[in-house]
Amino acid sequence: MKIDGKTRTYGIIGNPVSHSLSPAMHNAAFAALGKNCIYIPFCVEDVGAAMQGLRGLKIKGVSVTIPHKEAVMAHLDRIDPVAERIGAVNTIKREQHHGSTLLCGYNTDWLGAVRPLQEQIQLKGSRAVILGAGGSARAIGFGLLEAGAEILLCSRTASRGRNLAADLGCEWFPLAEGFIPEGQILINATSVGMAPLQDKSPVPENIPAKFKVVMDIVYVPATTRLLADAQRSGCIAINGLEMLLYQGVAQFELWTGLPAPVEIMRQVLLEAVTIGEE
Ligand code: NDP
Repeated sequence: MKIDGKTRTYGIIGNPVSHSLSPAMHNAAFAALGKNCIYIPFCVEDVGAAMQGLRGLKIKGVSVTIPHKEAVMAHLDRIDPVAERIGAVNTIKREQHHGSTLLCGYNTDWLGAVRPLQEQIQLKGSRAVILGAGGSARAIGFGLLEAGAEILLCSRTASRGRNLAADLGCEWFPLAEGFIPEGQILINATSVGMAPLQDKSPVPENIPAKFKVVMDIVYVPATTRLLADAQRSGCIAINGLEMLLYQGVAQFELWTGLPAPVEIMRQVLLEAVTIGEE
């Protein structure tokens, strides 16, 4: 990679960021398109100071990850209406508007979930059951509503679950009681299935068979217990790498205005996860 006076800088801000697969994914995409761009991980404690740094250093765009997705919003000049509704920004782009330079916030997490689902099933008119009530469940819920799906929420902690269901305007069910409502799509947006719960599924093994498409947003391991149950039952199984991939694809396209090299980005993620599992 050649770095010179014309290199444009992108990155990711979060804490921690050392585990992030985004630098490998975006740098491979820039290289594949011959773009003179670099993407750097920035471990950030003080969000306000980091945002001043973005402005001062004329950084073209950053991904935003845990724990800063909500906190960055107070430091932006503009926020996309969907990101505003979700209440979280995972992408920042430096833009020119009428001669002024603005830092604009977007959310591509919801696109990350919606795009791989749309490849398998028509979302308009489908019913999706979302497991979990955290930040990802929130983005996915708003994304599915945006795409015209009906949603139902099942989660562990009643207060958190009911609050999110009220924001999404949907029904809430307690996950522990084992009753999972019917639908065509089942999405795990809890952390059950990743270490230290890598041998567990959020639902009993007979449940996936009741759905046409099962998506797990946990991506390590690439085939979780839930997805293995889904595959055995003949469902279409979508793993968490697809969400990671497509939120990155949407970021790349937002920043560059070019179609992202999706296959190259997917290969980078697959290799990173496979090496991580060895
Ligand atoms: P949050 O911490 O915001 O939410 C976690 C959710 O998981 C909560 O609803 C929590 O339940 C639930 N949960 C945790 N442990 C259990 C358990 N033992 N039983 C039942 N429910 C449980 O996390 P995020 O929403 O940010 O992330 C969730 C998962 O998604 C993580 O594993 C993360 O790695 C993965 N992820 C994947 C992405 C991708 O691109 N593929 C992107 C972002 C995240 P409660 O209702 O009690 O709070």
